[in-house]
Amino acid sequence: MSETPNLDPGDWPAFRALARRMLEAALDHMEGAADRPVWRETPPEARAALSAPAPWEGAGAEAAAEAALEHILPFATGNTHPRFVGWVHGAGTPGGLIAEILAAAMNANCGGRDHAAILVERQVIEWCREAFGFPEGAGGLVLSGTSMGTVLALLAARERAAPGARKQGVGTARLTGYASAESHSCIARAFDQIGLGAEALRLIPVDADFRIRIDLLRETIRTDRETGALPFLLVGAAATVNTGATDDLSALADIAAEEGLWLHVDGAFGALAALAPALAPRLKGMERAESLAFDFHKWAHVNYDAGAVLVRERSLLLEAFGQGADYLAGMPRGLGGGKPWPSDMGIELSRGFRALKVWFALKEHGLNRIGEKIAENVACAARLARLAEAAEDFELLAPAPLNIACLRWAPPGFTGDLDSLNREIVMRLQESGVAAPSTTMIRGRLAIRVNVTNHRTRAEDMDILFEAIRREGKAALPPLATRARPG
Ligand SMILES: *Cc1c(COP(=O)(O)O)cnc(C)c1O
Repeated sequence: MSETPNLDPGDWPAFRALARRMLEAALDHMEGAADRPVWRETPPEARAALSAPAPWEGAGAEAAAEAALEHILPFATGNTHPRFVGWVHGAGTPGGLIAEILAAAMNANCGGRDHAAILVERQVIEWCREAFGFPEGAGGLVLSGTSMGTVLALLAARERAAPGARKQGVGTARLTGYASAESHSCIARAFDQIGLGAEALRLIPVDADFRIRIDLLRETIRTDRETGALPFLLVGAAATVNTGATDDLSALADIAAEEGLWLHVDGAFGALAALAPALAPRLKGMERAESLAFDFHKWAHVNYDAGAVLVRERSLLLEAFGQGADYLAGMPRGLGGGKPWPSDMGIELSRGFRALKVWFALKEHGLNRIGEKIAENVACAARLARLAEAAEDFELLAPAPLNIACLRWAPPGFTGDLDSLNREIVMRLQESGVAAPSTTMIRGRLAIRVNVTNHRTRAEDMDILFEAIRREGKAALPPLATRARPG
């Protein structure tokens, strides 16, 4: 049988020209981020193109590139835009393009072995260890995000609480964890995913500032012990997703020490506030955690996706994930050296070179600069909260201690359903392309949730957004009012 050519370009000069054109298109996309609508619905032609059957015959790089430019690139989430203020999305940076190109060129498998990519990941983890005040000997991994970091941290905590659980499972031991009712859903999901059951996570009510009630936490741990449960994990929030509230992490660290619990901090975005000197004191106690999960793709603006888990003692990760397959044994020298490998400290075996874009972003901008932008984002949210508080036709639904403001438009005299009205406003804002906030529920009321984790957002964007909410609200009034009237 005759051999076919490999999958490299048949015509390298033509491929280089195509690649350069695509780089230009990517740069145009980033440089022009503010000039487009924040979001546009993916049109029918693109949807049709993206539901075509499997390509048994290749169309070639040129055709694939053209299709991507036409049907994919223009219809992004929009989080590169300065007025993307929904959910918790970072804004990305052009430097990320460079790192992603180099990572693709290396095509490194970061499951293990002795090569520079592994050293880059270790260095990134070391930088974070220093930035977050963890002791030497801490370890961690660059991961897809905080959800994955939470799963790893919980598995390490489970193995410490019930040694041998990796082999025998936890049997009838009722391993129980604690977090505030405002904790992110990824924590309860991690309990589900590792087989403890989501209800093994006890959700403790919060105070007026949306922080975990320490008194109720102590009480719940006590009654759980009395009924035969095995408390093993305490989760603190370094900024909750709803309102940006940060738990009293020092108090949680004290309780964890007294009760022999593993303290895990969900610092998805909030941990990064440690890079802003004015905000760092609020995180006191975070450095005493056993583990910390956080994202680079949110407040460090590393292009999606990249997060990490940091564990106080690297050995705890090795105990939870180390493995002995013959074909993965290390060697004293050569490419098979460099143990322990990332695959001995986490779930994945084959892993991409996510660490490079993190390394690049931190090296390019520096931790201080990232901290400056974080402080500016916090000022933006405070500005919007002040506007809402001062206006007759707005309500601020929660304190805005960090980068999130939850508010709603509530024109005096309006007797209809404010939840529907504000949901309608958010959809209209997104469809208008002017801004993209999201929604959440605050104490049973629907809020327009404005989250600023965006280095392109400026104070004036808050003013534009504020006026746009009012404008869309007024425009939304007649049909809703009509609908609300009976008959
Ligand atoms: C985003 C977020 C998570 C989940 O992180 P992913 O990177 O999306 O997996 C967890 N906790 C908080 C507070 C978050 O904002």
